Amino acid sequence: MAIKDKVIVIMGASSGIGEATSKFLAEKDAKLILAARRLDRLEAIKEEFPEADIHIQQADVTSFEDVTTVVKLAMDTYGRIDVLYNNAGIMPTAPIAEARRDEWQKMLDINVMGVLNGIAAVVPIMAEQKSGHIIATDSVAGHVVYPDSAVYCGTKFAVRAIMEGVRQEQRENNIKSTIISPGAVATELYKTISDKNVSEALHESQKEWGLVSEDIASAVVFAIDTPDRMAVSDMIVRPTTQP
Ligand code: NDP
Repeated sequence: MAIKDKVIVIMGASSGIGEATSKFLAEKDAKLILAARRLDRLEAIKEEFPEADIHIQQADVTSFEDVTTVVKLAMDTYGRIDVLYNNAGIMPTAPIAEARRDEWQKMLDINVMGVLNGIAAVVPIMAEQKSGHIIATDSVAGHVVYPDSAVYCGTKFAVRAIMEGVRQEQRENNIKSTIISPGAVATELYKTISDKNVSEALHESQKEWGLVSEDIASAVVFAIDTPDRMAVSDMIVRPTTQP
């Protein structure tokens, strides 16, 4: 199926990687359902592409009800969903000893339950369609544990395990799964770090060698725009000079 005929739902479309991916797909005339909490940012994307087939919906991925509302919007509008891109995430990293339990809970709720909510909402639909594609933004932090990032890494290791499970269990329903693991990308994600020392250190390294969101968006579009027989199941995209 050509990309312009695909119905693509993006959770976490309002900034950074999700926003860049939405814009690339809008340029390719895909049928887009964009979701996030900041409706004004989604409206700005829609306004930038007045000719494009874009529907927006405010949603918090930690709420299964919100996620099902987004999926229902896609189904009511187009009658099918070809791609779900689970991209929403936060990264309030800090040393374990600081025991920031509230931030740990938020990371687990958004980074892990948010992905699971998306999967739960679309798998029955895609299984019935006998086609579909679920993509999740993981991280290099889903492959390697970094100092002061144990919980964030834990969430991203979990996403990788969950998505591999989706691949194993849903391939017989002709559902593709893609895990995209970026290295450092210059986005608003770094604003979610409340620990001053960690924030300053990561901001510096990101400025020194970080990718831009469009680098990851182009990899996501590549994974979406593959023949039915071909699934890009795992992709690591690092800045060339990242240690
Ligand atoms: P941004 O902060 O720019 O984007 C995060 C997106 O997630 C926003 O659209 C935000 O929308 C959305 N989001 C956050 N919480 C929720 C929620 N509760 N419900 C719905 N949407 C939510 O950062 P990035 O583009 O960098 O992050 C995108 C993904 O990439 C994340 O999963 C992140 O972990 C991952 N990643 C990023 C890397 C980087 O270096 N930047 C490296 C590796 C992975 P809103 O606030 O409007 O709800």
